[in-house]
Amino acid sequence: MSLSYEELAELDEPRLVTPIPGPNTQAVVERDERVTSPSLPRAYAFAPERGAGVMVEDVDGNVFLDLNSAIAVCSTGHAHPLVTEAITRQAGKLLHYSASDFYLPIYSELCSRIDDIAPMTNTRTFLANSGTEAVEAALKLARNHTGRQYALAFFGSFHGRSYGSVTLGASKAVYRAGFGPMLPSVVHAPYADCLYSFSDLEHPDSPGYIEEVIFKRLIKPSELACIVVEPVLGEGGYVVPPRRWMEMLKSMCDEHGILLVADEVQSGMGRTGKMWAIEHFDIEPDIILSGKGIASGMPLGAMTARAELMTWPKGSHGSTYGGNPVSCAAALATIDLIEGELQVNAAKIGELLKDGLLQMAARHDFITEVRGLGLMLGVDFSSVQIADAVEKAAFERGALLLQAGERVIRMSPPLIINERQADAGLRIFDQACAAVTAAA
Ligand code: PLP
Repeated sequence: MSLSYEELAELDEPRLVTPIPGPNTQAVVERDERVTSPSLPRAYAFAPERGAGVMVEDVDGNVFLDLNSAIAVCSTGHAHPLVTEAITRQAGKLLHYSASDFYLPIYSELCSRIDDIAPMTNTRTFLANSGTEAVEAALKLARNHTGRQYALAFFGSFHGRSYGSVTLGASKAVYRAGFGPMLPSVVHAPYADCLYSFSDLEHPDSPGYIEEVIFKRLIKPSELACIVVEPVLGEGGYVVPPRRWMEMLKSMCDEHGILLVADEVQSGMGRTGKMWAIEHFDIEPDIILSGKGIASGMPLGAMTARAELMTWPKGSHGSTYGGNPVSCAAALATIDLIEGELQVNAAKIGELLKDGLLQMAARHDFITEVRGLGLMLGVDFSSVQIADAVEKAAFERGALLLQAGERVIRMSPPLIINERQADAGLRIFDQACAAVTAAA
């Protein structure tokens, strides 16, 4: 018999009732492969039907522990009752009115709420439909405000798939292959100076790659509009940069009038145990970008800038759906929940998960590093084949995980995950590692 929402949400561990993938999943996969765009990068054969909290049931009635949060999106868990209630209430009142052309009250209510939680004071916000649109908005604002054309981003970073964002990103060549030319005037440097390093991060005066290569050989700092950085690298492999490096970026920006854009589409909204990952470095960006977890699964992105930077003229940017009222209602409920207790829970359960993973690393030689902040944790393996095999073995045991970077499995569960569910996740991860060792 089918479980109620509450029963499903209260489960502590997966419940598998068919071989994985089950017959209904296989039928979905067959149809999907005939009619959907072949560009979609599917990880494995999982076909979700409904979700409650950290648990997701597939079309065969198998219940999985979602250690992905639908790719860092369902921050408050699947279908949190307060979020679905806010969505339903708003949907019954007004589904849409374009905030680009009229004064949608819930749009400015959300912008004001974002101003309350932003890591800088006195902000204005532009609302978009997705992370990539927030990135595009930042790029346009930075050029428009500074009158400079160049943007700098980092190897390993991911910012989305529209032209500006894909140009800024440099994580995998496949995102660019066959799509050139990219946007002109975008340059890249090593993330955290960890490749081709010119700097010695222990020595504050040593120049980094940006000064030695970019500013000396490619562009003058006075031509650089913005530096776009993920304060914790997401798709690139869940890398936490050294504090000193983030401070260096900030002082470089301040010195040369460059705008520091923090792309927190993945790392924001409480995931790292603070509302924003950049707060771990005590740095105020000029622009902060959010998406994914901001509306618990409803499409929304936000580009929030210090108010004095929002000098672009009337009509210069907008969006038909950006800041749709239903997404705004979901975001308001989401922010209340995250501010209330979820970011604290993210820090607490994040510690528990990290400790468990570190203990596992001592048992399994092929785990080369465990890193991350809060519930943004990455486990680095010695090869991509092993990461593939562990991801698959975990799936077959009912845990949903996803890779990042070259050979990293990321753990980014909903922020509502409790200790029992975290323990179950660790147990399955350990069993998956053991199964991969046994099969080797
Ligand atoms: N920026 C970062 C850091 C991301 O992780 C992503 C998506 O993974 C994006 C931007 C793009 O967001 P979206 O897929 O909503 O366009």
